[in-house]
Amino acid sequence: MSIQIDKDICIACNKCSNICPGNLISTDNDSKAFIKYPQDCWGCTACLKECPVGAIKYFLGLDIGGSGGYLYTRNQKNHIDWHIVSSDNRKHHIKTKKDESNKY
Ligand code: SF4
Ligand code: SF4
Repeated sequence: MSIQIDKDICIACNKCSNICPGNLISTDNDSKAFIKYPQDCWGCTACLKECPVGAIKYFLGLDIGGSGGYLYTRNQKNHIDWHIVSSDNRKHHIKTKKDESNKY
C-alpha cells in the first residue's frame, strides 16, 4: 500500500508530514508535501485523515477490492469525509464523526 500526493491540490499545511509515524513525508522547496519513502508506507491512513483538501490518494490493495481503486478524505471540523473510488470508477462516500472515531 502507498499514497500519492497531488501537488496541484496541496496547500502546504504540513499536517501530513507532522503526523506520519514513520516520517515518510517530506516537503519540497515550495513547501508542498511529497512521499519520500513510498515503499515504507504501511497504510495507517494518519496522513489522509489530517489533509483538509483531499490531496492525498491512498491506493487500495487487491485484498480490499483495489487494483486501481483509491480513497481520499476531507478533514472537516467535526467529521471526516471518506471518498472511495473503485477500479471501475464507482464512487462511494462514508462520513465518520471524530468524537466517535474509536467506537466500533
Ligand atoms: S499512510 Fe501512514 S505510514 Fe503511510 S505515509 Fe501516511 S501516515 Fe505515513
Ligand atoms: S495535509 Fe494535505 S494539504 Fe497539507 S501538506 Fe499534506 S498533502 Fe498538502
